[in-house]
Amino acid sequence: MAIEERIEENVPLAGLTTLGVGGSARYFLCARDEDDIPAAFRFAEEKGLDTFVLGGGSNLVVSDAGFGGLVVKIDLRGVRFVEPDENGFVIAEAAAGEDWDEFVAECVRRELAGVECLSGIPGSIGGTPVQNVGAYGQEVSETIVRVRCFDRATGEFVELSNAECGFSYRKSIFNTSEKGRYVVTKVTFRLGAGGEPKVVYRDLKEYFDERSSSLTEVREAVLAIRRRKSMVIDAADPNSRSAGSFFKNPIVAAEILGVIAAAEGSDVPSFPAGEGQVKIPAAWLIERAGFAKGYRFGEAGISANHSLAIVNLGRAKAADIFALMNEVRAAVKVRFGIELVPEPVFLGEKAALPQTATEPVV
Ligand SMILES: Cc1cc2nc3c(=O)[nH]c(=O)nc-3n(C[C@H](O)[C@H](O)[C@H](O)COP(=O)(O)OP(=O)(O)OC[C@H]3O[C@@H](n4cnc5c(N)ncnc54)[C@H](O)[C@@H]3O)c2cc1C
Repeated sequence: MAIEERIEENVPLAGLTTLGVGGSARYFLCARDEDDIPAAFRFAEEKGLDTFVLGGGSNLVVSDAGFGGLVVKIDLRGVRFVEPDENGFVIAEAAAGEDWDEFVAECVRRELAGVECLSGIPGSIGGTPVQNVGAYGQEVSETIVRVRCFDRATGEFVELSNAECGFSYRKSIFNTSEKGRYVVTKVTFRLGAGGEPKVVYRDLKEYFDERSSSLTEVREAVLAIRRRKSMVIDAADPNSRSAGSFFKNPIVAAEILGVIAAAEGSDVPSFPAGEGQVKIPAAWLIERAGFAKGYRFGEAGISANHSLAIVNLGRAKAADIFALMNEVRAAVKVRFGIELVPEPVFLGEKAALPQTATEPVV
């Protein structure tokens, strides 16, 4: 069927996101085949439309006015595991539309190490390299070998090596220098056959109390810890109706810690983040700025189980989410002089979206 005949019109987007807010896409295509992708962009170009690539919608806030362009939902399928090499590593290739957590579960079932701490993160395989997803001391960039993409600049499919993806904390070329250029169609991972799980993060170490653990136990522990924080999508848990962590943990000059500690009269939690820099948990800043867990602001709120998640209490509009976001950012700025940077992507016409800094400014 020609691509024009498969493109739908006025498709509501809220139900395709985990936060569940926002309007419709003027045009919408579900891409099931790599060839659908160039065809979709040709259609958009002919019509002079903006485009947006949608994965699992778990890191996304859609504006109430929706999006006047073409949304291309990536629904490519297929996962393939290759026998271990002489060094005990297994290569796994996963198409971008596959569910990330189902892939993690399969890796753990096959006793392949490298992604176990990333259990329970919602979204698609193709979404993971975009912001280099990370949790409990592990990042997806640790196991990615290469990423296959459609390159909109050249109209060709390309294979980018790990180094070419430019990964760092919640960043890659896909959400910074080359934003909008590449559509991820397949990700190749290198996993340790029979490898040890990574237990470096405090919450996990405490959970196991120095006892050694298997990959399955680590996955179960991560899921249990995440469920307590409503960080696993669960229709029965209203606190999980979110876009995950709403703000990145700010990275600031180490001297700032002392200034904040003196002003607050207490220690400030922090983690090393490269030379002369530290990462401060945004959750701590938000709580100290006066937003307790369970704080309500109209139909939006702070999760009762995690101060870093903004939740849709049921009937929220995108405007409610943005209003609470602005209130939190303003309070943190006034108290600490730190600009919190939102983690989710905002989709909509520019005028309908809040303007936010792209980097923390101290
Ligand atoms: C409850 C909850 C918990 C979460 N926990 C974590 C966590 O622990 N750690 C973490 O890092 N994140 C977390 N997240 C955020 C989110 O799950 C991840 O960022 C996820 O990888 C997003 O993938 P997605 O497919 O849903 O992307 P989407 O939300 O659909 O899109 C996000 C961005 O990626 C782009 N994109 C998506 N697919 C592709 C593709 N195939 N090619 C090119 N660009 C693409 C989109 O254009 C958009 O810019 C959490 C979210 C929720 C709701």
